[in-house]
Amino acid sequence: MILVLKPNTLPESLEYKQLLAHLANLPGISTRIHSEIGIEQALTEIYLIGNTKVLSIEDIQCLPCVDRVVRVSEEYRVLGRHQNDDRPTYFEYNEVRFGQDTLNVFAGLCAVDTLEHVELMMKALRDHGQVCTRMGAYKPRTSPYSFQGHGKACLPYVFDLAGKYGIKVIAMEVTHESHVEEIREALYQTGSSTGVMLQIGTRNTQNFELLKIVGRQQDFPVLIKRGFGITLDESLNAAEYLASEGNRKVIFGLRGMKTNMGDPHRNFVDFAHVPVVKRLTRMPVCIDPSHSVGTRLIAPDEILDIMHVTAQGVVAGANMVLADFHPVPSKALVDGPQALLIKELPLFLEDIQIAREAYEKRVRLANRYLEA
Ligand code: PEP
Ligand code: MN
Repeated sequence: MILVLKPNTLPESLEYKQLLAHLANLPGISTRIHSEIGIEQALTEIYLIGNTKVLSIEDIQCLPCVDRVVRVSEEYRVLGRHQNDDRPTYFEYNEVRFGQDTLNVFAGLCAVDTLEHVELMMKALRDHGQVCTRMGAYKPRTSPYSFQGHGKACLPYVFDLAGKYGIKVIAMEVTHESHVEEIREALYQTGSSTGVMLQIGTRNTQNFELLKIVGRQQDFPVLIKRGFGITLDESLNAAEYLASEGNRKVIFGLRGMKTNMGDPHRNFVDFAHVPVVKRLTRMPVCIDPSHSVGTRLIAPDEILDIMHVTAQGVVAGANMVLADFHPVPSKALVDGPQALLIKELPLFLEDIQIAREAYEKRVRLANRYLEA
């Protein structure tokens, strides 16, 4: 059961203390408190854990400070959608809104290689009105002999250039807790000219200790990729680890499943799960067409498979697109064969816009039928 308290309830207030005292006396029930301090208001939620079936919603509703009560019926206690659950399905980070009703494109380098390539990418993004990107510094590679990413050495110039070109959010994978500290330090050193969305890659979806550490910090939002060989439920529980530790700014990423049933694509595209994740949880949903398809194969209609699956995800309501680009793919140190060219950026963005408009039209159509 979740108690949503009245906005700006003060922890020092007598009423709040009375509430906590009452809850402490409920047999077999423990509490977990979550506070979100926003610019306009502070919101507090209290999770009641244990045998809450015996509690009556009406009684709890009448307790001091309580605004609303949500009975948690399903799994994914924090991130899930529950009955009569009107908790928000969006968050803001560095002036960018991420929600189940928005769409943000993160085009960028799979892996940072040179300062020049980072600058060419960011300049193109700025020229096309983009404020988000992807830039891999820590790369989990299949072979220990492959390029592992420049790590913290590249962070200063990546963050400086992001500031220069007005990039507000960079999706960047972390594979170890030390990476979070390195990012925090480099942002500080470069005057916090940009923001970072920490990415948990598919190989670490069930690295529970990493999830707990990333979940415990609330400075950075998190993009968690679906595990490529586990069920959707297992991956959603992994996302819940982040939230149960306190960080609710979580986006769920679909990136294809590892099976040769998807051949000739690198992974089996799973964007049919976009609406499923939106129904089961309040997380915005990201699609990664690059790692799903993995090649620049082109269909007879002259449209790249990567662009086809992007449109499929967006037309189904995806909220974020993470895509690999590179100024000179033949020189990319990671995943060159799936990179889109910088000159393809305007085409990619316009194609996404067409799919987004189709999605919005479909929503209006469905609502019209519902009302009739
Ligand atoms: C990536 O986005 O760079 C990446 C490695 O993705 P995934 O974890 O989905 O393989
Ligand atoms: Mn990659």
